[in-house]
Amino acid sequence: MTKIDLHDYVASVQDYPEPGVTFRDISPLMGDGKAYKAAIDQIVDFAEHLDVDLIAGPESRGFIVGSPLAYSMGVGFVPARKVGKLPRKAVSASYTLEYGGVNTLEIHEDAIKPGQRVMIVDDLLATGGTINATRKIIEELGGVVAGVAFIIELEDLHGREKIMEAGDVPFLALMEY
Ligand code: AMP
Repeated sequence: MTKIDLHDYVASVQDYPEPGVTFRDISPLMGDGKAYKAAIDQIVDFAEHLDVDLIAGPESRGFIVGSPLAYSMGVGFVPARKVGKLPRKAVSASYTLEYGGVNTLEIHEDAIKPGQRVMIVDDLLATGGTINATRKIIEELGGVVAGVAFIIELEDLHGREKIMEAGDVPFLALMEY
């Protein structure tokens, strides 16, 4: 069987959402069963020895990576939602966006129990703001970040360093751009 190169399933769109930015679109990867499964399976392998109790993913592409991963590992999934979407008491954290502006994420306060080991996943790591906000909430709830995993890492934006500044954690990116 020929090995799948996941790079073949990323659509790079110049000057989107604004001039100077190259958007890395994983829609072709999600739209192809073999590529989607290959990507998720690689993250499952990475997570195998991390003793993970829960997967957390930020809205909305973190759900696309995190849900099949949680199902495959037989653990729960915790969504970090955009502000105002959760019906019950939640803990929130805000962060600055790569293209300007501020975003806020929220997690239900009973979604994570103290001591639970949570792996955070998203489609793409840029500046690290999204992941560090998610991490802040998890840690505020008493959870322990067991690892972080991405389909794509944008190396020039140094998000990985930002994550490690908040405390060393096992790290996986399936592709680097
Ligand atoms: P950041 O918080 O800066 O690490 O940004 C990561 C989030 O923004 C992820 O949820 C991505 O889906 C999205 N994102 C940021 N930059 C890009 C990009 N160049 N291409 C695709 N998605 C991006």
